[in-house]
Amino acid sequence: MTARATPSVAVIGGGIAGAAACLRLSQIGLAPFWIAPGVSGAADSGDKPGEHLAPAARPLLAKLGVLDLLAAPGHRPANALLSAWGGPRLAERNAIVHLEGPGMVLDRPAFERDLSARAVDAGARRIDAPLEAAESAEGHWRLCAGGADIAAGFLLDASGRAAVVTRSRARRFRADRLAALWAFLEQNPASPVVPTRATLIESAPDGWWYAALLADGRLALNWYSDPDLLPLEATRGTAALAALLAGSRHVGRWIDEAGFRLAVPRLASAGTTWLTPAAGEAEGAGWAALGDAAAAFDPLSSHGMTTALWTAIAAAEAAVAFVTGDPAPLGRYAAAVTAGVQDFLAARSGLYAAEARFVEHPFWRRRTATHASAAIEAPGSGCPSNPDP
Ligand SMILES: Cc1cc2nc3c(=O)[nH]c(=O)nc-3n(C[C@H](O)[C@H](O)[C@H](O)COP(=O)(O)OP(=O)(O)OC[C@H]3O[C@@H](n4cnc5c(N)ncnc54)[C@H](O)[C@@H]3O)c2cc1C
Repeated sequence: MTARATPSVAVIGGGIAGAAACLRLSQIGLAPFWIAPGVSGAADSGDKPGEHLAPAARPLLAKLGVLDLLAAPGHRPANALLSAWGGPRLAERNAIVHLEGPGMVLDRPAFERDLSARAVDAGARRIDAPLEAAESAEGHWRLCAGGADIAAGFLLDASGRAAVVTRSRARRFRADRLAALWAFLEQNPASPVVPTRATLIESAPDGWWYAALLADGRLALNWYSDPDLLPLEATRGTAALAALLAGSRHVGRWIDEAGFRLAVPRLASAGTTWLTPAAGEAEGAGWAALGDAAAAFDPLSSHGMTTALWTAIAAAEAAVAFVTGDPAPLGRYAAAVTAGVQDFLAARSGLYAAEARFVEHPFWRRRTATHASAAIEAPGSGCPSNPDP
């Protein structure tokens, strides 16, 4: 009698969540199929916003055996945070020494490339193409990508906010429509000023600023606001960004004094959305959403990459349990994501409530405790993955 083969696991998405899930599955001995098209940065430049890695990510990277990736030259420790939030003055917020080690300012595309390479080295069978179709029947998924036809007993959806498969299997909720204007600014080589390495957060009546110096000397600059509060033609040139900066108290001055040149910003969705449940069964085949597909958080928390890592590890472990006959961890995974979302919403309300100067302005009024808890339910399949701000 031949032993029944363990059904395979498929991972969709080539960001941090997808790569981390592949690593964890390979560690456990179940090398997955990995449907992951190309580099996950913005198509035209390879750049990707979101470079601040929280200290809490370190033990997760250690568990995956890839903590050494943080030593690559494109990354640097993030050891100071200055914020003007709740008052006009900049205050230092780095009083806590993190036992895990410092947070990091990453070269995000390089980090994702290195993590992906480790996942492939560990055994993930990568298909460099987008998922074209997914159907579940009789305990299996049938997936099509890049001309390949794949059968899998479990599907891990790490396709980011798009949640390409799982958004039609669960209900999607949204707490806000936060949008980010983001750009990387180059310093004028003739400038004599050595730019500060502190990360800067500054609140304003219509949103808030984030600025952080990358290891390569560029400045990551993000303006967070709501789509209806963004200037017209914000991404057509640098004029709208310049006008916004002129209204800031600190960040505009920093940029001017250090001689950073404005660049045309791009727009990204950055709101808080989540799926309920984040995992389940479809015709006997298991599925789980992870990373942004499961829960995408307002970047004020700097939790996005950490969430991608912990959900990847937990969902990969639940997937292996499921295909070897134990569905209980999958239920526990879905419950942990729900609990994480509730914790995040509470923390988010507290953070926004700490800025009382602008309570009369729509951006801040929309984020008071009452409004934050009144999440809008969006239909499973009809919710746009990237609401067009
Ligand atoms: C402006 C901004 C700033 C941020 N700043 C920070 C920060 O400082 N720190 C932090 O921790 N987090 C930050 N975040 C959040 C963080 O970037 C995300 O939480 C993180 O990228 C989630 O990783 P992921 O792998 O789940 O999704 P993604 O990084 O979105 O990756 C999803 C992948 O799935 C792929 N995909 C999509 N559709 C398909 C398909 N049909 N088939 C196959 N693959 C598909 C995509 O190409 C992509 O590669 C920020 C987010 C934004 C928008």
